[in-house]
Amino acid sequence: MVPLWLILHSAQCDDTDAQDAAHLLKPGKTPPYNIVFERARGRLTATILLPPGLPAAHCPGYNATSIGAAWFADLRKRAPSPAELAFAAAVLRPWCERWAIQPGHVVPHRTLRPGKTDCPGRYYDHAAVLAAIFDP
Ligand SMILES: [Zn+2]
Repeated sequence: MVPLWLILHSAQCDDTDAQDAAHLLKPGKTPPYNIVFERARGRLTATILLPPGLPAAHCPGYNATSIGAAWFADLRKRAPSPAELAFAAAVLRPWCERWAIQPGHVVPHRTLRPGKTDCPGRYYDHAAVLAAIFDP
Protein backbone atom coordinates (compact mmCIF):
# COMPACT_ATOMS: atom_id res chain seq x y z
CA MET A 1 0.00 0.00 0.00
CA VAL A 2 1.12 3.52 -0.70
CA PRO A 3 0.59 5.63 2.40
CA LEU A 4 -1.43 8.77 1.73
CA TRP A 5 -1.61 9.99 5.33
CA LEU A 6 0.72 10.35 8.28
CA ILE A 7 -1.30 10.20 11.48
CA LEU A 8 0.27 11.28 14.78
CA HIS A 9 -0.56 9.74 18.13
CA SER A 10 0.66 9.44 21.64
CA ALA A 11 0.56 5.96 23.10
CA GLN A 12 -0.93 7.64 26.19
CA CYS A 13 1.20 5.53 28.44
CA ASP A 14 3.60 6.13 31.25
CA ASP A 15 6.97 6.79 29.63
CA THR A 16 9.09 5.40 32.42
CA ASP A 17 12.10 3.18 32.01
CA ALA A 18 9.98 0.26 33.20
CA GLN A 19 8.32 -0.03 29.78
CA ASP A 20 9.40 0.40 26.21
CA ALA A 21 7.83 0.48 22.77
CA ALA A 22 8.01 -3.30 22.43
CA HIS A 23 5.50 -3.38 25.30
CA LEU A 24 2.88 -2.21 22.75
CA LEU A 25 3.15 -5.44 20.75
CA LYS A 26 0.58 -8.07 21.73
CA PRO A 27 0.72 -11.67 20.50
CA GLY A 28 -1.75 -12.29 17.67
CA LYS A 29 -2.68 -8.60 17.35
CA THR A 30 -1.84 -6.15 14.60
CA PRO A 31 0.73 -3.65 15.91
CA PRO A 32 -0.96 -0.42 17.02
CA TYR A 33 1.45 1.88 15.15
CA ASN A 34 4.05 1.67 12.40
CA ILE A 35 6.64 3.59 14.39
CA VAL A 36 7.07 4.68 17.98
CA PHE A 37 9.34 7.43 19.28
CA GLU A 38 10.67 6.88 22.73
CA ARG A 39 12.76 8.64 25.34
CA ALA A 40 14.33 6.01 27.53
CA ARG A 41 17.41 5.93 29.69
CA GLY A 42 18.44 9.34 28.38
CA ARG A 43 18.27 8.39 24.72
CA LEU A 44 15.80 9.04 21.91
CA THR A 45 14.94 6.03 19.81
CA ALA A 46 12.59 5.15 16.97
CA THR A 47 11.19 1.62 16.91
CA ILE A 48 9.48 0.34 13.78
CA LEU A 49 6.70 -1.99 14.92
CA LEU A 50 5.43 -2.51 11.36
CA PRO A 51 7.08 -1.23 8.17
CA PRO A 52 5.33 1.73 6.52
CA GLY A 53 3.09 0.39 3.76
CA LEU A 54 1.60 -2.26 6.03
CA PRO A 55 -1.57 -1.27 7.92
CA ALA A 56 -1.22 -0.80 11.67
CA ALA A 57 -4.31 -0.70 13.88
CA HIS A 58 -4.33 2.98 14.82
CA CYS A 59 -7.18 4.86 13.14
CA PRO A 60 -10.30 3.06 11.88
CA GLY A 61 -11.04 3.96 8.27
CA TYR A 62 -7.46 5.08 7.60
CA ASN A 63 -5.31 2.12 8.59
CA ALA A 64 -5.02 0.83 5.01
CA THR A 65 -3.87 4.19 3.64
CA SER A 66 -1.72 5.66 6.37
CA ILE A 67 1.37 5.52 8.52
CA GLY A 68 0.68 5.59 12.25
CA ALA A 69 3.41 7.28 14.29
CA ALA A 70 3.28 7.64 18.05
CA TRP A 71 5.27 9.08 20.88
CA PHE A 72 5.68 6.54 23.65
CA ALA A 73 4.43 9.07 26.14
CA ASP A 74 1.24 10.59 27.42
CA LEU A 75 0.85 13.91 25.63
CA ARG A 76 -2.24 14.56 27.73
CA LYS A 77 0.22 15.18 30.56
CA ARG A 78 3.37 16.62 29.00
CA ALA A 79 4.62 18.11 25.76
CA PRO A 80 7.35 16.48 23.72
CA SER A 81 10.63 18.31 24.23
CA PRO A 82 12.12 20.23 21.29
CA ALA A 83 14.69 17.43 20.98
CA GLU A 84 11.95 14.78 20.86
CA LEU A 85 10.09 16.75 18.18
CA ALA A 86 13.21 17.28 16.09
CA PHE A 87 14.17 13.61 16.38
CA ALA A 88 10.74 12.40 15.23
CA ALA A 89 10.66 14.93 12.40
CA ALA A 90 14.07 13.81 11.15
CA VAL A 91 12.72 10.26 10.83
CA LEU A 92 9.34 11.22 9.36
CA ARG A 93 10.60 13.85 6.89
CA PRO A 94 12.13 11.33 4.43
CA TRP A 95 9.00 9.18 4.66
CA CYS A 96 6.84 12.18 3.72
CA GLU A 97 9.21 12.88 0.83
CA ARG A 98 9.32 9.26 -0.32
CA TRP A 99 5.53 8.91 -0.50
CA ALA A 100 4.78 12.58 -1.30
CA ILE A 101 2.67 12.99 1.82
CA GLN A 102 1.68 16.64 1.85
CA PRO A 103 1.34 18.78 5.01
CA GLY A 104 -2.47 18.63 4.72
CA HIS A 105 -2.27 14.84 5.01
CA VAL A 106 -0.14 14.96 8.17
CA VAL A 107 -2.73 15.07 10.91
CA PRO A 108 -3.22 14.35 14.59
CA HIS A 109 -5.43 11.34 15.27
CA ARG A 110 -8.17 13.55 16.75
CA THR A 111 -8.66 15.36 13.43
CA LEU A 112 -9.86 12.12 11.80
CA ARG A 113 -11.89 10.92 14.80
CA PRO A 114 -13.61 14.07 16.05
CA GLY A 115 -15.53 13.47 19.24
CA LYS A 116 -14.05 9.97 19.56
CA THR A 117 -10.54 10.81 20.78
CA ASP A 118 -8.37 13.74 21.81
CA CYS A 119 -5.22 11.78 20.84
CA PRO A 120 -2.36 12.74 20.84
CA GLY A 121 -3.41 14.91 23.79
CA ARG A 122 -3.68 18.54 24.76
CA TYR A 123 0.10 19.07 24.90
CA TYR A 124 0.51 18.00 21.28
CA ASP A 125 1.36 21.05 19.14
CA HIS A 126 0.50 20.24 15.53
CA ALA A 127 1.91 23.49 14.13
CA ALA A 128 5.25 22.69 15.76
CA VAL A 129 5.20 19.16 14.31
CA LEU A 130 4.43 20.41 10.80
CA ALA A 131 7.19 23.01 11.03
CA ALA A 132 9.67 20.43 12.29
CA ILE A 133 8.89 18.06 9.40
CA PHE A 134 8.40 20.46 6.51
CA ASP A 135 10.31 23.59 7.49
CA PRO A 136 13.32 22.48 9.54
ZN1 LIG B 1 -4.17 7.99 18.55
